Amino acid sequence: MKSAHNVAVLMYHHVTDQPGSLAVTARQFESQMRGLVENGWRTLQADEFFAFLAGEPVAPKSVLLTFDDGYLDNWVYAHPILEHHGLHAVLFAVTGLIGDGPIRPHAGQKNVALPVCPSHHEAKAIMFRPERDQVMLRWDEIRAMQQAGTFEIHSHTHTHTRWDRVSPSAAEKISSLNQDLLASRAALQQQLGASSRHLCWPQGYFDADYLAVARDNGFDCLYTTDARGQNKPGGNPGYVYRFAARNRAWGWLKQRLWLATHPTLAPLYNARKARSDARH
Ligand SMILES: [Zn+2]
Repeated sequence: MKSAHNVAVLMYHHVTDQPGSLAVTARQFESQMRGLVENGWRTLQADEFFAFLAGEPVAPKSVLLTFDDGYLDNWVYAHPILEHHGLHAVLFAVTGLIGDGPIRPHAGQKNVALPVCPSHHEAKAIMFRPERDQVMLRWDEIRAMQQAGTFEIHSHTHTHTRWDRVSPSAAEKISSLNQDLLASRAALQQQLGASSRHLCWPQGYFDADYLAVARDNGFDCLYTTDARGQNKPGGNPGYVYRFAARNRAWGWLKQRLWLATHPTLAPLYNARKARSDARH
């Protein structure tokens, strides 16, 4: 079987009914997902992606869709669109911010009043406060998405804290991150009956201590916010490249995937981007 030269990993946060920072509107998301299906792309599971890095073949047009944090709009807007197209995404949930309570309506249902899904700006203001349930997913919604096959759930830590910034010493940073990862794994085990090797760094930050703590906790497939590289067989699963999805239609994604996966153009493009990022 001919396998993919590399696999692009997309990073989403919000899919909502209105544009805003870190948001893709439901209309553009629908366009992107329809484009994937109509052009023969396959959405991988996280473990298939990990196996690909270890040398297992995957279909040449394979892509990994990832969502960070665990916002309510992932259930309200992204889930029904993924379900409609039979596509699959990976959700990195901040496990300590996921709530309890009944499942809320989603946009794939008829004659329902949809919950209001605030902008990223508003969500950020309350996601660490008791009212967070207004913007974050609930465990029952996560279980429903998992059962539908639209999302699989992995860790984005338990608290989304930048321990490097708030810890007075390296020893305390290490101990706090360790607690954070232990708590996240325990929550996934308790709520979903399983946890995994896949971990996404809050704000893309990690250092040598972070890597050691993650590995001690059984996390060896680690997702960055670095877009300037390709995920290839034999590549480092401890450094997964991802690029941010834009609020644009399929035409944009088609071109971005072509560029990201091109065997010779992508490295040139990434090197140029790295040089220009270094200048800014
Ligand atoms: Zn995050």
